[in-house]
Amino acid sequence: MMTYSTDALFNGLRTGNRRMLAKAISLIESELPADRIAAQELLVKALPFAGNSYRIGITGAPGVGKSTFIEAFGVQAITEGHRVAVLAIDPSSSRSGGSILGDKTRMHELSQRPEAFIRPSPSHGTLGGVAHATREVMLLCEAAGFDVILIETVGVGQSETEVASMVDIFMALMLPNAGDELQGIKRGIMEMGDVFVVTKADGEQLQQAQLARQQLSSALRLLRPKSPHWQPKVLAISALESRGIDEVWQCCKEYFTESKQLGVIDLLRAEQNKHWLHSVLENRLRQLFYECAPVAAQLPILEQAVLSGEMLPPIAAEKLLALLAFGSHAKG
Ligand code: GDP
Repeated sequence: MMTYSTDALFNGLRTGNRRMLAKAISLIESELPADRIAAQELLVKALPFAGNSYRIGITGAPGVGKSTFIEAFGVQAITEGHRVAVLAIDPSSSRSGGSILGDKTRMHELSQRPEAFIRPSPSHGTLGGVAHATREVMLLCEAAGFDVILIETVGVGQSETEVASMVDIFMALMLPNAGDELQGIKRGIMEMGDVFVVTKADGEQLQQAQLARQQLSSALRLLRPKSPHWQPKVLAISALESRGIDEVWQCCKEYFTESKQLGVIDLLRAEQNKHWLHSVLENRLRQLFYECAPVAAQLPILEQAVLSGEMLPPIAAEKLLALLAFGSHAKG
């Protein structure tokens, strides 16, 4: 698929050419081996110009108001002179082939702004693969001058953990009835979030939203904070009535100012890079394993042996792993 040199892509994205940025991202997301080499070249070029951004993760169940919030929040950031990239990690898109996150039609106003760039979740690959691509896409967007990166995900399973492991600040959106259902809120999310946003605090739901805000704050005080320098905040907003958005933005800025002063962001990003290394290694090892010819030949036979009860799974696994060591030497 390579039609442009990495130099052309790099120069294009550095000079604000959105089409070239989009092409560079397609290269990053490509799974063709030849493209991987070019993608890595491009990343090496981009790296010195990356990193200078607010990396913000945003999660919440479908319907909580993510796209409406991101639209208002993004426009607020642009008003303050920032350039905003919206990326998405959608764990369901690899199954359904279509992504509901990061869809431009969901963020109509933002998508019209020249200071914004919206990119849907890649619709192929495993969650691990999608997450790796998103990390790389984030670096490209930063090199292209976007200094606020919003990474959106839905509140299911591992995708939240993945997003939390690539952003500086993690924001969880909750419905105003969260108070009633506090028991039902996953403990994981309470421990992961730096900022909690109760959405739709308007009309008949206003009081309920305020109650939810109080209850969430009390619940959070019982937890040990994720970081010693930041007590998670709970805010209530109405994107519909444009209330509270500025407060969320101020809260993020406060977080960044404090964290930067303390050097916390650099430490966090260094730790995240270590996590990224291991994550890439795990993915690659899995791939190498299943691609190894002797493994591929024996796998169905040993699967059958496990199915019929002739062999225990751990024993079959050891036999296959032994083939990998043999296979890679033989190949090398
Ligand atoms: P997402 O699935 O999390 O992206 O949620 P959406 O942003 O698409 O919002 C889901 C629904 O909630 C839509 O019908 C929105 O109009 C509505 N909604 C979003 N924000 C607000 C808000 O601040 N107040 C009210 N009352 N409704 C909202």
